[in-house]
Amino acid sequence: MTNTTYLWAPTPTPSVAVQGSAQRLPVHRLFFVGRNYHAHALEMGKPVDKSVERPFYFTKSPHTITASGATTPYPAQTHNYHFEMELVVAIGKAGFRIAAEDAHEYIYGYACGLDMTRRDLQLAARDKGRPWDLGKDVEHSSVCSAIVPMPGTVIESGAIELAVNGQVKQHSDVSRLIWNIREVIADLSLFYGLQPGDLIYTGTPEGVGAVVPGDHLVGHVQGVGEVTLTVGPARA
Ligand code: MN
Repeated sequence: MTNTTYLWAPTPTPSVAVQGSAQRLPVHRLFFVGRNYHAHALEMGKPVDKSVERPFYFTKSPHTITASGATTPYPAQTHNYHFEMELVVAIGKAGFRIAAEDAHEYIYGYACGLDMTRRDLQLAARDKGRPWDLGKDVEHSSVCSAIVPMPGTVIESGAIELAVNGQVKQHSDVSRLIWNIREVIADLSLFYGLQPGDLIYTGTPEGVGAVVPGDHLVGHVQGVGEVTLTVGPARA
């Protein structure tokens, strides 16, 4: 057996805490569902007709994962950094072409997440038909609470909300997802062999908005918990 040697120490595996456990969940990939609440799709000027559309996704580097409670720098090259409060599904078992009725078998647990977004760059890219990476794959932008183990549980409803500096900005219910959790897992698994440690940010409800340095964000999903973030000053 040979020992692999590296030029420099490899980047540690991105991971998130697990509620009630000393063991952390190693993150494999980060998937995000776009436009998965009607009222948010409308506020983005892109209404969704489920009868003729399918869900779509973007990804971020797993290295963007950021623990709840962090203070993160206001990112470079934006003047419109937005919050998006989301329910996060943690996949616990490998699966490809998963039937919706079997989707629960692949769920390890849930977390509360923030899909922080350079909205100005995302919209400019969208409107020019360019990739969303500069708008979405932002360092420190995938905020995630501790994973709450709920193996086999499909969350179908529950309040989801976000407050900035104590003022509620987003308030909806997980039952308003356009593509629900079973449907998202089934559809995403047509494109990817899902793996343990894949996290799926399921989409944000309406009310997204900009933050400024000093803002404190607190989000909740009923039955899951809380995620917090403080926006710090821009990097020098
Ligand atoms: Mn999002």
